[in-house]
Amino acid sequence: MMQNSPVLRVAIAVPLRALFDYLPAKGISIDDLKPGIRLRVPFGRGERIAVLVEIVQQSGVAPELLKPVAEILDKTPMLDSRYIEFLRWVAGYYHHPSGEVILTALPVYLRKGEAPVEKTEKAWQLTEAGRELGVDDLKRAPRQQQIMQFMQHHRDTVGRQQLSERFDNFQAALKSLVDKGFLRQTEKNLGQLPIHPASPSPSLTVQQQQAVDAVLEQSGFQVSLLFGVTGSGKTEVYIAIANAILARGQQVMVLVPEIALTPQLVSRIQARVSEPLVTLHSGLSERERSYAWQQAVSGEARLVIGTRSAVFTPLPETGLIIVDEEHDQSYKQQEGFRYSARDMAVALGKEKNCAVLLGSATPSFESLQNAYRRNYQLLRINERAGNASLPKIDLIDIRSVRLDGGFSPVTRRLIAEELQKDNQVMVFLNRRGYAPVLTCHDCGWVSECPRCDARMTLHAGKKRLWCHHCGHQQPVPPKCPECGQQNLTTLGQGTEQIETVLSRYFPDTSCVRIDHDSTRKKGSMHEKLEAIKTGKHQLLVGTQMLAKGHDFPNVTLVVVMDVDAGFYGTDFRSSERMSQLLMQVAGRAGRADKTGRVLIQTRHPDHPLLHLLIQQGYEAFSRQALHEREQALFPPYGFQVLIRAEASQSELPEKFLESAHQLADDAAKETIAFWGPVPAAMQRKKGVHRFHLLLQTPSRAALHDFLHRWLPEIERLPQAKRVRWSIDVDPQDFYS
Ligand code: ADP
Ligand code: ZN
Ligand code: ZN
Repeated sequence: MMQNSPVLRVAIAVPLRALFDYLPAKGISIDDLKPGIRLRVPFGRGERIAVLVEIVQQSGVAPELLKPVAEILDKTPMLDSRYIEFLRWVAGYYHHPSGEVILTALPVYLRKGEAPVEKTEKAWQLTEAGRELGVDDLKRAPRQQQIMQFMQHHRDTVGRQQLSERFDNFQAALKSLVDKGFLRQTEKNLGQLPIHPASPSPSLTVQQQQAVDAVLEQSGFQVSLLFGVTGSGKTEVYIAIANAILARGQQVMVLVPEIALTPQLVSRIQARVSEPLVTLHSGLSERERSYAWQQAVSGEARLVIGTRSAVFTPLPETGLIIVDEEHDQSYKQQEGFRYSARDMAVALGKEKNCAVLLGSATPSFESLQNAYRRNYQLLRINERAGNASLPKIDLIDIRSVRLDGGFSPVTRRLIAEELQKDNQVMVFLNRRGYAPVLTCHDCGWVSECPRCDARMTLHAGKKRLWCHHCGHQQPVPPKCPECGQQNLTTLGQGTEQIETVLSRYFPDTSCVRIDHDSTRKKGSMHEKLEAIKTGKHQLLVGTQMLAKGHDFPNVTLVVVMDVDAGFYGTDFRSSERMSQLLMQVAGRAGRADKTGRVLIQTRHPDHPLLHLLIQQGYEAFSRQALHEREQALFPPYGFQVLIRAEASQSELPEKFLESAHQLADDAAKETIAFWGPVPAAMQRKKGVHRFHLLLQTPSRAALHDFLHRWLPEIERLPQAKRVRWSIDVDPQDFYS
């Protein structure tokens, strides 16, 4: 009997709810085995990287079936045991396999078993000749010219990582520049985080200062909701609080929706915080990401700015967690481990006993309700900072108006007036491409996607039909594939078309489009934003990418082309989403000395919620909309769990969900409402049929108890193996 041999309980990233037991390899001292170290273990026919969770004296598995670990990868733990406990709690909350959750906290590089990064990176410096090079000297080599401009702007030694964030395929250009003697290659120690002297802060407004004080006055765990209108200077509040916390010797975590979309926020924080900071986002290579993570975890970096997954960076000395634009949907992971980084930021604040600051001009209804109920401290800023005032919003009734290229005559005239005054105008339409449908005038054929219950969008520039749901593409047919006539026309509009229309109206005005298609190239978003700032373009057309947090002082008019789809959307969050988008877009107008105006084209000018939003603002709107949700026990009054199932045979997912529903006991049915199975809003996507079963109840505890009993039973259903299914706790999106 191996009574005294301890058993290593480890986490492995596999879709099974269990942890796994192993024996220590021969000759290993148990003192070297601390929870949080990585191991290589045999698993199935291969090997996996595992994280040691705990050492136990006995296993539920017979000793002769236990295998020894293959290799020990770390001397010191990657994750501390308290943090591992937190991750196990997270796994329980989302009913997601704890092995996958625990390994999520490690950067991919370390998850693969690589040794921690401890290296220098290649870097480049300007030579004497490079410093003196004129802007036009490299006209024939635009990529080289861009790089030289970037280098001259930075003056410093610039590392590979920084270049890769800005440029695609820069290697050849760099080599030429070195060959020509403008740059010299050197090395940069990744270990030295640049420390910049912080530039001075503006003196805060009264409301900004009150918000700062309110957060700093409290100690321990506390959540504050900074509800500040667009342009109210929330970033200044974040910076002031962050600097105070850093001065106390604690670390700060800042979560942002998408770094590529908001480079301004990152550079503003960088300019004003003098302690070492790192960014964590998808633009980094695996090694770079791992290195930034290591610096944060070692405490060398004091502030971390990152997107969603950065919430799982185990900072040892967390004193503050900031979630900027906390309403943003990108905080919710929509596949695999479906967590909400905003919710986990709050949970983490509780675990770390520190302050959490959620900020938005349009907070999520969940957070607002927490504030109204005083679970969160509500901090309002209802004025814009500096000399700016809030824009005036007008509805343009387009019911009986002849639209030209989507614009009403009034809209067109007001745009012209603004351009004449040398102001910038932003036109917003949340649909990319040229037109959402191509159709045959003669027989009614429409451009349906062969794999989805959806239409393919016409992209005129690329001359292709393109499904935005599955990525399927095909050339635009020269004639109707159905009847052969050449009477194909488009219905509706996308940003590409709006750009064309505006160029026709205003041929002498420079127009820039910002959407997913026009910003694919690395660094192009950054370049376009700069060009807008410097006034190169007067007309800006874009999707929601243009609505996110940008600060363009010269934009005085914002036009919203089509607001109606959002208010009549398919799920109970549609109007919340639309109002957020609308307020955020509107918030781009009049952010400096010039007053702003917003025009909203609509066919439903009498829609009561739209009126409330425009006349009384987002808060009044939220109270009314929350009241409606309370009647229906929708979140945040009820709690939901969505079970999704899909398969290529249409009847399988529905049958599976029916059987799952039947497994629910009567006690559960008394407290929990079961809706479905129903087909997903888009039943067929990528050739796969999708069904939903939704659970809703006012009692979160009852729901979780039930799930703990029910999920293992579902897993044992024979049909479970014939479909792909998943569980989504606090689902946000019923469409995907
Ligand atoms: P928000 O994130 O709330 O939309 P920002 O932080 O982007 O607002 O601030 C909007 C603009 O106001 C920025 O140009 C910022 O520099 C300026 N600003 C913020 N606070 C002040 C202040 N106290 N005094 C002067 N200008 C300020
Ligand atoms: Zn036809
Ligand atoms: Zn498709």
